[in-house]
Amino acid sequence: MIENPAVMVLCEPGEINNNCSGRVETISFELDILGETVRFSISVAQKQARLSDITPLARTLSTKLALVVLDRLRRNGEFVPCRKGCSACCNYLVPLSVPEAFRLREEVLALPAEQGKAVLQSCLDTAKRILDKKPKEFDINELAGTESQIQISQLGKWYAGLNLACPFLSDSLCTSYEHRPIACREHIVTGSALLCEAEWTDESQIVQMPVSVLQCLGQLTAELEQSNIEAVMLPLALPWAQENLERGERTWPAVTMVERFVEILRALSIEQAKPTTTKGSF
Ligand code: SF4
Repeated sequence: MIENPAVMVLCEPGEINNNCSGRVETISFELDILGETVRFSISVAQKQARLSDITPLARTLSTKLALVVLDRLRRNGEFVPCRKGCSACCNYLVPLSVPEAFRLREEVLALPAEQGKAVLQSCLDTAKRILDKKPKEFDINELAGTESQIQISQLGKWYAGLNLACPFLSDSLCTSYEHRPIACREHIVTGSALLCEAEWTDESQIVQMPVSVLQCLGQLTAELEQSNIEAVMLPLALPWAQENLERGERTWPAVTMVERFVEILRALSIEQAKPTTTKGSF
């Protein structure tokens, strides 16, 4: 189990979450999601936080946003084939933000020994197959963010062609569903799931989220670390986090981290104000 109490927790507006320890500050904000005002409240402990500490909050928030989008799509009469047991997109390239990569390592370390070993082995097997087939021009460990969308798209096509199932997939179910990456939470399609199963295609009707929490975490990390925006491929995340342990131990005041996270989120939601369905990758 990962240590409790948490450093920052999403809670209902007006509520204070008691899962945070010590003195707690509440940060409330609103986002305009598809023309609806959605209110959020975050309880933040007044202590130092590492990058991984923001991951649970970011995951919960991305799920809430995805539910708002799903509700709107269904009300608009769109068919969303995503459901339990459908793993059609689980051989796609799944990018993790840096905080998620560090959190994943902590979560795997917290598993019972046998289970943790099996997850690590599965990730290493997949990583080996990726590295064996890696085209020279791709820097697998670091996919730059906004400046490099073309490279990400090329990498996505190449990756789908490898036909590698996600190391967390078993019997068409996600074995890490509660802790699944934000990219998985933000991936919604309309129409038929058959389109997702074809070798990497641009025919799937992938819904563009009104605000991407994954993008927000990428920007936040780059600002805090004064570095480029990075993403890490899911099967490579464990060795990557191990190699970057020092970065994972750096801390910032949790309140500052959350305040900036919210500012970036609001700015992105204004930029991406209108929902569209788009063709392409995550
Ligand atoms: S983490 Fe889970 S939902 Fe995401 S690609 Fe892997 S199996 Fe699928």
